[in-house]
This record gives sequence, structure tokens and C-alpha cells, in this order.
Amino acid sequence: MPRLWQAFHLAQEMGARLGECEVLLRALSHRTAPDGLAAEIGAVMTVLRIILGDQLSVDLSALADLDPGRDIVLMMEVQEENTYVRHHKQKIVLVLSAMRHFADALRKSGVTVDYVRLDKPDNSGSLTTEVQRAVARHRPGRIVVTEPSEWRVQALVEGWASLTGAPIEVRADHRFFASRARFAAWERGRRSWRMEHFYREMRREHGILIEGEQPAGGEWNYDQANRKRLPARTVPPARLRFPPDATTLEVMVLVEHRFPDHFGGLEEFGWPVTRADAVLALDDFIAHGLPNFGDYQDAMKAGDSFLFHSLLAPALNIGLLSPREVCRAAEAAWRTGTAPLNAVEGFVRQILGWREYVRGVYWTLMPDYADRNALQATRKLPAFYWTGDTDMRCLREAIGSTARHAYSHHIQRLMVTGNFALLAGLAPREIERWYLAVYADAFEWVEMPNTLGMAIFADGGQMASKPYAASGAYIDRMSDFCSVCAYDVKQKTGPNACPFNYLYWAFLIRQKNRLSDNPRLAMPYRTLAGWPREREAAILDEADAFLNQLDESDRRSGIGK
Ligand SMILES: Cc1cc2nc3c(=O)[nH]c(=O)nc-3n(C[C@H](O)[C@H](O)[C@H](O)COP(=O)(O)OP(=O)(O)OC[C@H]3O[C@@H](n4cnc5c(N)ncnc54)[C@H](O)[C@@H]3O)c2cc1C
Ligand code: SF4
Repeated sequence: MPRLWQAFHLAQEMGARLGECEVLLRALSHRTAPDGLAAEIGAVMTVLRIILGDQLSVDLSALADLDPGRDIVLMMEVQEENTYVRHHKQKIVLVLSAMRHFADALRKSGVTVDYVRLDKPDNSGSLTTEVQRAVARHRPGRIVVTEPSEWRVQALVEGWASLTGAPIEVRADHRFFASRARFAAWERGRRSWRMEHFYREMRREHGILIEGEQPAGGEWNYDQANRKRLPARTVPPARLRFPPDATTLEVMVLVEHRFPDHFGGLEEFGWPVTRADAVLALDDFIAHGLPNFGDYQDAMKAGDSFLFHSLLAPALNIGLLSPREVCRAAEAAWRTGTAPLNAVEGFVRQILGWREYVRGVYWTLMPDYADRNALQATRKLPAFYWTGDTDMRCLREAIGSTARHAYSHHIQRLMVTGNFALLAGLAPREIERWYLAVYADAFEWVEMPNTLGMAIFADGGQMASKPYAASGAYIDRMSDFCSVCAYDVKQKTGPNACPFNYLYWAFLIRQKNRLSDNPRLAMPYRTLAGWPREREAAILDEADAFLNQLDESDRRSGIGK
């Protein structure tokens, strides 16, 4: 055995840490080894490739140069990741089942996977301690990982090299259209960060719905054609759902056992957990949902949670689908005449525009972004956000759908649960953690800017040009909820009045100092200017009475603590 090779083995046998081994190896190879031999030794050292629960993509950068004869893929199910908020049971099942399927697919293609199951007796419970244990098991020459999607996990990854002694390579995540650096270059020097401007650049840069240099059809945005109320006779398509297979069923038992007090039910679990099923879900949406997506993307209907929405966010966010293929599939539907341009442009804007944009906002403004509270909101989250027990039908519908499916669509999130949080002055941290817990698609990088920036204006207008505050009239216009609600949407005050009505005006009155200069709120503030002082005071009293009663009944019931 050549001297260098012997030294390497000796060092390993002596229990030297691998980082030190590698240093020794490098030093020796510089002094004595012929080039070919050093390369040979480097080539036989195991590379530990870590795949996190939302990185289930075969084209992940961490897998790019994987050598199945040498490398080990590490995947970890740990208690800490499942409990840092009380995730909806469906979200945990989705991630764990999809991880297990992904590991099986890797193994079938000849890759060695070290898979740490949640119920393994010696599971140490956190990503960091499991990485340390895996390094002790495999003694890799280095660790490779794709940059995590969330700040919290990135902070963990940054500690792994010094904790394990193994060098770590963190690779960019190429699954997005815009890298973090691309967004940073776009926002640099801009006073306002309007999504629409970013989106147009992305359209041009990636040639999506572009003809020559111009937007397809001549317009960048077809929103004027969208936002219709759903006609009573319109029947949304039946959705392709995926009954749990044996792997998912096994995870369901585990989740019920481990997390019995987490929010939501598993009975209606139907999310795709494999790449093959995610592609079927995409095809199904393109054929049956997309043609009407634009027209009814803001509509809400009692008893129908999905309408024409894609339900693709969970598969996109854990990596089973790529945003590129989803946008291309939608564009192809327009080019072949199976979906109209207003629908396809509206859909592409959500992914190429909003999804990329919120990721950029998150990575540019974190970690301080998490503490934003521009409107100084402090109220606790009402218990009905967990129980759905409220006479307000719009909230009951949105929260009921959330519990049953770990899903409610964008307008329910923004204009029902989000609007109430804004008008009631819920503390940003309280409502932000709720959104992070309750949806199957909830990951902080996408959830946090939507909550703080869009729903509750906690960032003071970094993302939205005005708060999305609305009275009951908006909900009545876009839904059929109000027709059978305990409250009367037409009444502005009094015991039967829709609470959104007086909460809306009370919000504007309370936030007058902060918001009355906003040109987009000029109209309601002009209306308020004509009100006598007593009328303002009466509205504030009514709003306070409603909110205090809510607090009081929560306090008495002890729910939501
Ligand atoms: C308060 C609040 C919290 C939210 N939290 C999340 C979250 O945790 N995870 C998440 O993926 N989305 C979140 N959204 C955005 C949006 O509501 C969901 O992406 C969407 O409802 C998912 O359902 P869908 O797949 O049927 O989407 P569709 O309505 O079919 O839209 C298509 C796709 O566009 C993307 N998209 C649409 N709107 C947005 C948006 N505002 N920001 C980013 N991507 C968007 C999603 O990938 C979605 O799958 C949140 C929105 C609000 C207002
Ligand atoms: S009347 Fe008000 S509370 Fe009832 S469903 Fe309509 S908007 Fe919601």
C-alpha cells in the first residue's frame, strides 16, 4: 500500500476526526503523492449528501454529481422539525410520506440512502444532532447540501461544519426562476418593491408568455377580466385526489400517535406524495381547472374549498414539481387553445411573479422581517382560528376547509382570515405562526411575506401599496356566504350587523395617523372626514365591545392558550 494511503487509513483507525483526516491527507498529498494518487483518494472519500424535507427533486443541486458507488444520501425525520409550530397533521403526513417515497425511488436507482425515521428508538430529535451522528457513522470527506429554504434551517446548516469537523459545501437552489442574488440585484436602489415590475422582468428574462419583446396578447396583466363572482349554476370540476397508499397510511398512524393534539384531521388527506402523482395532479389541473382559473380566482363558495385553483402549492414547495414545468404546461395550454390567455397569464403571475417575489422579499429582509409590526397590533389570536367555532360564516367556512384539507384558497387566506386579523389588530407573531401551522403548503419563506406583507400590512407597505382591508361588502360580492350568515352584511351597526363592517371603519379610524396619507385610501378617509366625532366614537365602541367579548369568551373557555 502506498505511504499516503497507509497514512490515511491509520489516521481513520486512530479515530481522528474526518476534518483532521482531510487536512492530513491534503498536507501529505502536497508533499509526497503523485497527482493521480491524491485524486484517487479524494474520489474514494464518501460525500454525505443531505436532502431536507422540502428538497425532494431529482435535479436538486446537492445531487448533481452524486456517485452512487461512493456517496451516501442522508434524509432525516426529526421531532424538532415537526413541532416548532403545531403543524397540521396533513402537512406532517405529506412531508414524511413524500420523503419516504423519494428515498425509495433513490434506492431503486442504486443510491445508498441513510434514512432516519421518526420512530427509530435512538432518533435524537434534531437535524443538527442527526447530522453529527451520521458523520460519526460514515466519516465522510465532506458534506454537500442545497441551501435551505428557511432562515431557521440555514442558521443550523451554518453550524454543521464546526460541529462535525466535516467540510460543508452549500449549493444554490436552482429550482427557482430567480436566485437570491437575482432578486437582490432587482431591488437594489428601488424605493418600492412592486411585484408587477419584478414579474415583467421575469417574463422577459425567461421568455414566458412573450412574443418578440412584447407580452403575449399585448397586455402584461389581465386582472380586469378576472375577479368574477361564481354564477350559482357553475359547477367546479371534481378534483383528482390521491388516496393514501401503504406508506402514507403507515405515516398517518405515526402522526396520530405522535402529534394527537396538532390541528386538523387526516380523513380527507388527498395530496400527491410522489413525483408521478404530482405530475398527474398538474395534468388534471391544466385540463380541468386552468380554463376557468382566471375568471373565478377570487371567488368563494360555501362547501367548495377548491373551485378552479390548482392545489399544486404543496407539491411545488416540497420539490415534486418545478415551477418551470408548471408555467410551461400552462403556457402550452394557451398556445394549443385549451385555456384562454386571461387564465394562463393570471396563473403564471402567481408562480413566476408572486412565488418568486415573496421568496426574494423573505431572503432580502430576514431575519428582521419576522419582527415587523408597523401597525402596532397586539391582540391575541382568537380561539376560533383553531376551532372554527364562530357565527361569522365566512370565517367558519375558511377555517373549516383549513381543518379538513390543510387548504383554503388565496382569497380566503387574504380577504377572510387575513382581513379579520388585520381589522382586529392581531399581533403579527400570533397570526403568522397560525398560517405557518395550518396549511399543507406552509413554509416560512412563502408564508411569512404573505402574512406580514400582504395580509396584515405589518411591513408598513414594503410589499403592498395599501392594506387589504375590506368590509363585509367585499366578501358578499365575491361569495355566497352572507346569504345564510347569523349576521346581516347590509347592516353597518347594531347587534346583527356584520362585524367586518364596523371593524373596517374602526380600523381606519384607529390607524388614521399612519394611513390617511396613503393615496389609495383617499376615498374611505374622505368619507370618514364627513363623519361627526360621535359617529366615530360609536363605531370604536362597537368594535371594542365585539373584540372584548371575543377575548372574554376565549379567556373563560381557556381555548387557544
Ligand atoms: C396569509 C397568506 C399566507 C399564505 N401562505 C402560503 C404558504 O405558506 N405557502 C404557499 O405556497 N402559499 C401561501 N400563500 C399564497 C397562496 O394563498 C397559496 O400559494 C395558494 O392558495 C395555494 O393554493 P393553490 O396551489 O391552489 O394555488 P393557486 O391559486 O392555484 O395558485 C397557483 C400557484 O401560485 C403560487 N402562488 C399563488 N399565490 C401566491 C402568493 N401570494 N405567494 C406565493 N405563491 C403564490 C402557488 O405556488 C400556487 O400553487 C399565502 C397567502 C396568504 C394571503
Ligand atoms: S355577513 Fe359578514 S360575517 Fe357573515 S359571512 Fe358575510 S362577511 Fe362574513
